[in-house]
Amino acid sequence: MLPEATSLWLLQLLRDTHLAQFYRPILKELNVTRPEHFDFVKPEDLDGIGMGRPAQRRLTEALKRHRAGHKPKNWVYKILGGLAPEQKETSPLSDSPVPRLEPEGGLKCLIPDGAVCRGELLGSGCFGIVHQGLWKLPNGQSIPVAVKSLRVDPEGPVGTELGNFLREVSIMMTLEHPNVLRLHGLVLGQPLQMVMELAPLGSLHARLTAPAPTPPLPVPLLCLFLRQLAGAMVYLGSRGLVHRDLATRNLLLVSPHTIKVADFGLVRPLRGTQGRYVMAGPGPIPFAWCAPESLRWGTFSSASDVWMFGVTLWEMFSRGEEPWAGVPPYLILQRLEKDRARLPRPPLCSRALYALARRCWAPNPADRPSFSCLEELLQEAWPLEGRCVRDVTEPGALRMEPGDPITIIEGSVLPHSADSATWKGQNGRTLKAGLFPASAVTLVDSGNVPASRAIHRSASSQAGQGQRSTDGGDREKAKLWEKPSTRVQKRNIPLKNMKAISKSLESVLSLGPRPTGGGSSPPELRHARAVSQESPGLPTHPTFAAANPSHQPSQPVKEKPPCLKRETAQYHPKKAQKANKAILPSGDPLPDSELQRKIREVELKVHGVTHQECLATLRATRGDVAAAVQNLKVDQLFHLSSQSKADCRRILEHYQWDLSAASRYVLAQR
Ligand code: AMP
Repeated sequence: MLPEATSLWLLQLLRDTHLAQFYRPILKELNVTRPEHFDFVKPEDLDGIGMGRPAQRRLTEALKRHRAGHKPKNWVYKILGGLAPEQKETSPLSDSPVPRLEPEGGLKCLIPDGAVCRGELLGSGCFGIVHQGLWKLPNGQSIPVAVKSLRVDPEGPVGTELGNFLREVSIMMTLEHPNVLRLHGLVLGQPLQMVMELAPLGSLHARLTAPAPTPPLPVPLLCLFLRQLAGAMVYLGSRGLVHRDLATRNLLLVSPHTIKVADFGLVRPLRGTQGRYVMAGPGPIPFAWCAPESLRWGTFSSASDVWMFGVTLWEMFSRGEEPWAGVPPYLILQRLEKDRARLPRPPLCSRALYALARRCWAPNPADRPSFSCLEELLQEAWPLEGRCVRDVTEPGALRMEPGDPITIIEGSVLPHSADSATWKGQNGRTLKAGLFPASAVTLVDSGNVPASRAIHRSASSQAGQGQRSTDGGDREKAKLWEKPSTRVQKRNIPLKNMKAISKSLESVLSLGPRPTGGGSSPPELRHARAVSQESPGLPTHPTFAAANPSHQPSQPVKEKPPCLKRETAQYHPKKAQKANKAILPSGDPLPDSELQRKIREVELKVHGVTHQECLATLRATRGDVAAAVQNLKVDQLFHLSSQSKADCRRILEHYQWDLSAASRYVLAQR
């Protein structure tokens, strides 16, 4: 059901007080269509539609304010301006008047219903469905467009969706930048429709994950996209806005070489001297892309967008893999803060670019580079280009022919082994990446100096940048280029390509465990997907350190003898074997098969725990599965909240050990 123009005030008022779910009952059951109708509504009537007394008090207060401040406005203003209260409060946007309506020329305007016809479905987002369309201008010319229609769900919270939709419109209509998707106008029909510039090549994420025979994207093009994104974000920041949903799914390809930032559904104005936006209550946010302060406090800023930029970079070089796949949303914050884990370096990403991403992931927002600084850093980290000078056909080497353009991802800095050095690069003709003898390539910008010599200088300077640019945690940055022998071992590591992005927008209202199917990794792989920050003060994560020294994301992790989290800073196989037993109350060890069965049972009951954690807890509870499950849930809640373990246990008891419900409770307390 679409709200009537005459009842939009009600919807707005209810949205402001987080009571939008009562829009329909108030309108339909209590027949309230004007503010003065509330004079006849009794508390019992509100009780009758399920509104609690505290909510009723909020509504009464809001009504008072509404009556005091209400001034009639024209209907266009009501729709385009009146439903974006947060925008009105912000300084940069509040200065801008409601944009002039220009029905001709294709500027932001109101578009008559019949002027747009919708065609093929392009996709669907949180708040709307997007179709390809044709917009017929008054001069008879037709232009291809994308039409986003408000999702009208008869059962859904129409108020929230309408509000978000109109907020997106009102923000987009103020924006004009070559790398920001353009809004042409709004159709005030049923349903409401946003008419936008068409991105004929779809989303970058779809392109990155396109199955073979679609080739991967060239590394320099990915760098170009990053530069375009940084430029667009400088612009958004200058407009006092935070995007909050930067991800490859929201970068649209308007041409093979141009991306535009889209999906402004989560954009918010920045406020105050610190330029922050703080969420007033629960709402959907893309957990795996979010900075720790956003996950912990609901705080967003340009610095949190910078964090997301780093994750977007990671996605680009991982061929659209999902960040933190398999880690339940409520554990991501713990991984980031407690384990100081970071997404690993994707194989196509040079060390210099990865160092840049790591700077974006600095724990303290103030330590992250600004977007304008990122533009410069990107320039410095730009990969070198070379040209092949001879056929390369050696087994295992990247195939190339004379004249092939080669992008150098990794080179060697060992001067004495220059001629025999092995490098990593991407062939711009075949778009395949791999190792090749450095002597087969000359650098393009270095006067045809053999690459093996010219790159020495360049690599040293990049090494310097790397050292400057990370947070002091990346020890490997000093040796930016590896010896051939170590890299040959890594040559055949497949880049795991997640075909479908799993639920990317998680809500703090839906922190419950994810089903284990789909894109989830088996529990024992989860640690291996993250890179410890290797802080000297913290023990490195034993599972990762032992199984994945190269920090490659998808290297299959061999099941080592289990090493317990707290016990194996110095890993010892014999100790671990002993640790692999749980003790029965009688003092006898459990037989292996029984132990494995119990571990599986605990794993199934507590989503997101590792094999090792289950084992350790089962040992502590002497094989008692129920107690182990409870202990692990207490641990999980403890990591999520600022409560003591005893309080966590009480809360969980209260919620009958429903971790999801208990998590919602503790988050709401913050
Ligand atoms: P959104 O609701 O903005 O997240 O859009 C949902 C999906 O529709 C996106 O992931 C795109 O695949 C597609 N889409 C959105 N806007 C456009 C556009 N302007 N041109 C082409 N495809 C689009």
